[in-house]
Amino acid sequence: ETNRKGYVPLYASFESFYLRNIFRRQADCFNRPIVSVPGGKTMVTNRVTQDHGWTFKMADTERKEVINLASYNYLGYAENSGPCTEAAIEAIHKRGLGSTSPRSELGTSVQHRKLEQTVAKFLGAEDSICLGMGFATNSLNLPCLAGKGTLVVSDERNHASLILGLRLSGATVKVFKHNNMESLERLIRRGIIEGQPRTCRPYKRVIIAVEGIYSMEGSIVRLPEVVAIKRKYGAYIYLDEAHSVGAMGPNGRGVLDYFGINPKDIDVLMGTFTKSFGSAGGYIAGSKSLINHLRVNSQCSHYPISMSAPVMSQIIASMNDIMDKEKGDGMRRINQLARNSRYFRQKLQQMGCIVYGHDDSPVVPVMLFMQAKITALVHGLYDRNIATIGVGYPATEIAAERTRFCVSASHTQEMLDECLQALEEVAGEIHIKYSRKKR
Ligand code: PMP
Repeated sequence: ETNRKGYVPLYASFESFYLRNIFRRQADCFNRPIVSVPGGKTMVTNRVTQDHGWTFKMADTERKEVINLASYNYLGYAENSGPCTEAAIEAIHKRGLGSTSPRSELGTSVQHRKLEQTVAKFLGAEDSICLGMGFATNSLNLPCLAGKGTLVVSDERNHASLILGLRLSGATVKVFKHNNMESLERLIRRGIIEGQPRTCRPYKRVIIAVEGIYSMEGSIVRLPEVVAIKRKYGAYIYLDEAHSVGAMGPNGRGVLDYFGINPKDIDVLMGTFTKSFGSAGGYIAGSKSLINHLRVNSQCSHYPISMSAPVMSQIIASMNDIMDKEKGDGMRRINQLARNSRYFRQKLQQMGCIVYGHDDSPVVPVMLFMQAKITALVHGLYDRNIATIGVGYPATEIAAERTRFCVSASHTQEMLDECLQALEEVAGEIHIKYSRKKR
């Protein structure tokens, strides 16, 4: 395709049917920037659409408060109160904001080591390595673990950061049906040619890549079965716990804690600080030798600037708040999140909505099955002072559009009831009750 001057344009136009819809949804988000902490309730500016929708006026007078079901603030630590904020402020005073150097140069402070030890202790791992961005933790570390001669068997619903990392790695990637253990095992068997002794396998290693809670589905990985398959075929597990650590399990330690699995069974445990811990960055936890390997070989150790002091202090403070069962507030938050998630999901099901995912997941997708309903629902709720996210292609398949509610420990039952009432009204207008009411 060429433009009027006969050149191939630098970027695609927004004319294609599906891209036009993505553009509209995104323009909508860009046009109502938030003006407060992303708490249970959040201040947003009202929509002001101009030209293509990308430019917006930040008119202070047009603010309004919404109940926020769109942030991953599972435990409420993103809010600017309590011990985490105090620790972050103290860190700015003592150490400033930017580290201004990569980890392998002058960017490793005592606090970086303290953070890595805290993460390892929290997860019951030998050691950990922490990086400034969760997305890059997957996409830049996977190429250090997989490569030519590696077979990676990856869940079809894995996050974009895992997919990018696998593409960069050059490994052979086979995709199995979501959470389907027969499909996973079939691909491994086919890959390693059944019956061959380990030394004759066509692949040097086999890695199973899965997530704890799948971010678009709200489903939980069938981890005990994945571990059994790993053992049977001598494979390795790469587990992304971005949405599950802090958000589930009797001690808030993620799906391992939930299923009572020994951390040693998971070869690479990845997670982020951007969700339950209300901060920024990501980590990989595992054996000392794995972490040493990443310290030496990962691009993340040598090229990007290391994490900043207040960000690390926030994480250490929130993890300590969870680990300190006597004086900390973490366990109360975890139990509140579990209660809120179950209550909200149950009420939606009773309303007649089709709700995907596991009962214990704080990610609650409500199915819409139609592009046009995404905007109708998000706007309908927004007009009733509820912020939520609509998700469609390419994050989901076409005709599997949904809205995804993220429940938080910061939500009170009154807030959740207000959302349910608003949804009941909007559901009546746009017809999203597909299943019969449960009595
Ligand atoms: N893994 C998963 C499963 C995610 O959902 C996300 C982002 N939501 C990431 C990794 C990337 O993490 P971050 O947003 O902290 O960069």
